[in-house]
Amino acid sequence: MDSGNGYDLAGFRKALGGVEVIDDPQIVRLKSRDFFWYSPILKAELNRKSADLVAVPKDQDEALRVLGAAAQFRIPVMPRGGATGNYGQLVPLNGGVMLATDRLDRTISIKPGVGRFEAGTLLIEIDRRTRSMGWELRMHPSTKRQSALGGYLAGGAAGVGSVMHGQLRDWGCIPGLKVATCENVPRTLELRGRDVAKATHAYGTTGVILEAEIGLVPVWEWCDAVVAFDHFMDSARFGQALAEADGIVKKQAAAVAWPIPSLFKGLKDECPEGKHVFFAMIAAGDREPFEALIKDHNGTLTAWRDTPDEDGHDAPIYEYCWNHTTLQALKTDKSVTYLQTVFPIGRNLEVVEAMYKKYGDEVMLHLEFQRRFGRVNCSALQVVRWKSEERLYEIIRDHEAAGCIIPNPHTYVLEDKGPKVIAQDHHLDFKRGTDPYGLLNPGKMRRWKSA
Ligand SMILES: Cc1cc2nc3c(=O)[nH]c(=O)nc-3n(C[C@H](O)[C@H](O)[C@H](O)COP(=O)(O)OP(=O)(O)OC[C@H]3O[C@@H](n4cnc5c(N)ncnc54)[C@H](O)[C@@H]3O)c2cc1C
Repeated sequence: MDSGNGYDLAGFRKALGGVEVIDDPQIVRLKSRDFFWYSPILKAELNRKSADLVAVPKDQDEALRVLGAAAQFRIPVMPRGGATGNYGQLVPLNGGVMLATDRLDRTISIKPGVGRFEAGTLLIEIDRRTRSMGWELRMHPSTKRQSALGGYLAGGAAGVGSVMHGQLRDWGCIPGLKVATCENVPRTLELRGRDVAKATHAYGTTGVILEAEIGLVPVWEWCDAVVAFDHFMDSARFGQALAEADGIVKKQAAAVAWPIPSLFKGLKDECPEGKHVFFAMIAAGDREPFEALIKDHNGTLTAWRDTPDEDGHDAPIYEYCWNHTTLQALKTDKSVTYLQTVFPIGRNLEVVEAMYKKYGDEVMLHLEFQRRFGRVNCSALQVVRWKSEERLYEIIRDHEAAGCIIPNPHTYVLEDKGPKVIAQDHHLDFKRGTDPYGLLNPGKMRRWKSA
């Protein structure tokens, strides 16, 4: 059996021994997709791409066998977690094998402040296992129900909890990783301290994460809150004040400008017509100081309830935050797309206000307040009315001229995310040793040249 790309799939499968393989083209195609379709640019390019096969190793030994066989037969391998990446990070550009990590889901250890799990463990499952021992994830993406640990570390950046605990890149967040190489005889490496960055946010191009350690904090009783504002800048200033209020324990803080809430199907009662809203997760005991801060900023609390059990049907408020805001908007209006913007620290609200006044309903503001390397800032995941690629890049250039960093979500190439976003040298250097044939998720790291 040969693939359209000239790979010896029959030889590859034989070398896999008993590793489970999916070859139904429809299922393989579905498993080759993520949320790239948020972007009209990526949708046009990636919509028809598919792997040739999906390999589903049942344990780490089998995962190494897949990597060894891929190296021997020179077949691309794309590691796959929950497939919630939104830049086409996992989409194969020239066929090959999806390496599904679903069954690598064992707990290695749970200790005070840190847990170690296999990479395919879903984040919601990690929270379940650690909560029973009094601990929870410091942060997780809004896709906690669907994302796997390895996929989050290889493809994500921050999330729910970042307002207290910073980004994945913040020191101490990921104490250690076990990574597998893609060689004829694959090796495993333990990365610790600074070395962890060699395999994080690299889209799996530098190694396959088999296990990871992640920071935990003591469990809090959380409440979801919605606050309405007449003026968007009041809600933005409230966000900054809340993020800086170290006495209020919180997990989520997002300002969402009207008319984005008009696109939400699920929160009609909590989001009054014409009002800008603020979504927060606050420790149950901190309601009183939270309400005092709302009053100071001319807001009105429209909802306060226990954060719903994630096993139930009700969406927690964080499923309206981060990249879920865009998803909730897209459910109603398929013509919108999005941007990602980090505002200049120290001047963030000034630039937010300028952009709000300039772009109004064309670039609808959604701000996520968070700590970054010890300082409070906000980034935006704006909902953008799509006009054309030229217009999108005009808006990007204008934000950059104002001092913003744009981690461009309309590309799957690491380098094209923006020069200031990703330090690539450590990834590239590491890849030379871990992936000598350039088979790990090819095409996602432009500077790679196979030996
Ligand atoms: C609705 C929505 C909301 C989101 N919210 C957030 C958010 O709050 N914060 C955030 O940071 N991101 C967010 N994202 C982006 C995405 O959810 C995160 O990047 C996510 O955690 C990815 O996890 P995953 O398991 O789905 O990874 P996948 O999509 O499966 O993979 C992501 C990348 O990592 C690689 N990869 C997967 N597993 C491994 C492994 N074991 N070893 C090496 N490489 C691997 C893949 O090849 C791919 O390049 C959101 C996306 C959507 C669609």
